[in-house]
Amino acid sequence: MGLFEEGIQFLKGVGPYRAAAFNESGVANCHDLLHFFPRRYLDNSSITRVSQLNGEPATIVGTVIAAGEVLGGRRSRYEVTVRDDGMGRINMIWFHGYGWVKNRFSPRDRVAFHGRPNRFNGQWSMVHPEFDKLDEVGPQLSTGRIIALYPGGIKLDRAGLTSRTVRRIIYELIKARGWDIPQVLPAWIQTEYDLMEGHVALRAIHFPKNQSELHRARTRLKFEELFFLQLLLKHIQKKRKLRLGVKLTVEGAKLKQFIMEVLPFTLTEGQRAALRDIKKDVQEGRQMHRLIQGDVGSGKTVVAVAALLMAVDDGFQGAFMVPTEVLAEQQYKSLVNYLEPLGVNVRLLVGSQRTKERRDILSGLSQGTVDIVVGTHALFQESVKFKQLVLAVIDEQHRFGVRQRGELLAKGNNPHALLMTATPIPRSLALTRYGDLDISLIKDLPGGRRPIRTRLRSEKRRGEMHDLVSKELAKGHQVYIVYPQVEESEMTDLKDAQRGFEEWKKRCPNFRTALVHGQMPADEKERAMNDFKANLVQVLVATTVIEVGVDTPNATVMVIEHAERFGLSQLHQMRGRVGRGTAQSYCILMASYAKSAEAKVRLRALERITDGFKISDEDLRLRGQGEFFGTRQSGLPDLRIADIVEDQTIVEQANSAVATLVARDADLEDADHQPMRQYFEQFYVARLEGFAKAG
Ligand code: ADP
Ligand code: MG
Repeated sequence: MGLFEEGIQFLKGVGPYRAAAFNESGVANCHDLLHFFPRRYLDNSSITRVSQLNGEPATIVGTVIAAGEVLGGRRSRYEVTVRDDGMGRINMIWFHGYGWVKNRFSPRDRVAFHGRPNRFNGQWSMVHPEFDKLDEVGPQLSTGRIIALYPGGIKLDRAGLTSRTVRRIIYELIKARGWDIPQVLPAWIQTEYDLMEGHVALRAIHFPKNQSELHRARTRLKFEELFFLQLLLKHIQKKRKLRLGVKLTVEGAKLKQFIMEVLPFTLTEGQRAALRDIKKDVQEGRQMHRLIQGDVGSGKTVVAVAALLMAVDDGFQGAFMVPTEVLAEQQYKSLVNYLEPLGVNVRLLVGSQRTKERRDILSGLSQGTVDIVVGTHALFQESVKFKQLVLAVIDEQHRFGVRQRGELLAKGNNPHALLMTATPIPRSLALTRYGDLDISLIKDLPGGRRPIRTRLRSEKRRGEMHDLVSKELAKGHQVYIVYPQVEESEMTDLKDAQRGFEEWKKRCPNFRTALVHGQMPADEKERAMNDFKANLVQVLVATTVIEVGVDTPNATVMVIEHAERFGLSQLHQMRGRVGRGTAQSYCILMASYAKSAEAKVRLRALERITDGFKISDEDLRLRGQGEFFGTRQSGLPDLRIADIVEDQTIVEQANSAVATLVARDADLEDADHQPMRQYFEQFYVARLEGFAKAG
């Protein structure tokens, strides 16, 4: 891979100290340096004059006229006064912890500042703006140049790797070696998708001649990144498919009896299709890796139980892993309900059990007298040994890290993996994040359900919410009141819930009210939930411990306090706790009057949309990929330039290119594909962090 592999220490302007700083920022060689993409560009059109500021985020370029500390005890600050080329003045301000900016500015420095401006007493200022020092930029910009600005950070800063320096280093590299940049995509892909040449794109991304060249360069590099990421997922999938898995007969007696006699309803079309997929998988003699995606309430548990029975029918064991103890207890109960009539031995394994009980379960698992175990992450501890685990269900799989998942799958002899998620994943995300899994979608909800009526209410209209709750209680229905709990340890959130609990107790003296929260001992939590399920309690005030899984069909109202603090998908999950029976259900989103316009748009979407897939698309659009992509946890490489929200078209193009490639030359053996293969192996496969291993 020639140039790409070469180290950076001996490049002009680098040296050992800067090479180390680069290294810590993930730049290890010339490949990484050329792919150290600008975070922003500056040209005449992207700069705002102070006189044109209107409160929206902006970039100001100007000259420092004064810089210094303004002392005032706790309100001490560091202030830089800047005059721009239109003679406007603006103050840049840093409060507390500004030591690192203190000696950075001197009068006459030319600097670009980016941030949201505020106006106070006729004077503009920006608090904690980003900045780039740019002395040489003035004259360059006036000749129509576009200047790249690079990601910063304390480590790079300390080594003097400002935007200006990084730009010079890359400039020297491209000037001396630009022609040595290897071609990593074959010509046919380049032609078919009308892409700019790779070495041209890597020059133009750093030193664009004009906006249209920059656009073509970005498109090429985004395509390349999305292409190799999807190829990587296919590669992982292919390697997995080589692993053997236990062949199961799928027409056993217990499975039949479960479907024909135990279930009080018939399966939906989606459930049947998912089961068909699973049956096919476990008969192939290869390890199954299937993700079942279905909205809350779509009936995934039933599908999982049927899959577990395929294992039990053949005399093997199954495991059912869930993220929390409350959920484990609930799923355990529903499994016992379904499976006891069939004579299947189901046990629960959670962290809070007594030693004696635990020892008993562990010995049952290792001797094979326990058929199915339900549990939390307690399941993949070392002391847990199975006689023959052949199928593991992982519920709410997005709540587990890849590593935890891998540890459970390492327990048996390549047990089949059935992953389930109630968070529907938009297609662009599914392709780039779950492209290595086989996916079954359950699109339909069990019949007889009415869509939940959702309303956003401000503080002023709290009374209407109280009226609705009273009316529903009078009809004999039950109610959830949910308070956000951002962190398990946050006491302030708990106080909110406690206050709410006291209020509801007073407001509804004829009904019983209970409180559940994350800091309660597990048995108390369980008692409160069980009392609610048994209708001994009618009003359940809760922190978000009820987010997933709880099933109480008689509950018809879900009130969510401080709804503005939750993401759409999370709200949708909580809303799914009601609407499980045949009566009309309601979800009231209480949002404080201080909510931002953005929050309002977000929450209004829930009033309109009931389909979880549409909601997750909307959520992705509104919040951006950051919160979703989470590749770091997945062990997959981060996206450096592509954005799965904005670049959905490119995601699809790259996906079709991968499909064509795999159809033509699955093992990348064609002579024309050798540079691509070498690049892929070295810069993608070799850099996988434990992902393939983790399963
Ligand atoms: P999920 O885990 O997908 O959110 P569950 O498996 O908890 O959903 O099922 C939700 C509710 O729907 C449960 O009360 C379950 O008994 C019921 N249910 C599941 N499948 C069907 C079906 N085919 N017909 C009617 N009700 C069903
Ligand atoms: Mg579920």
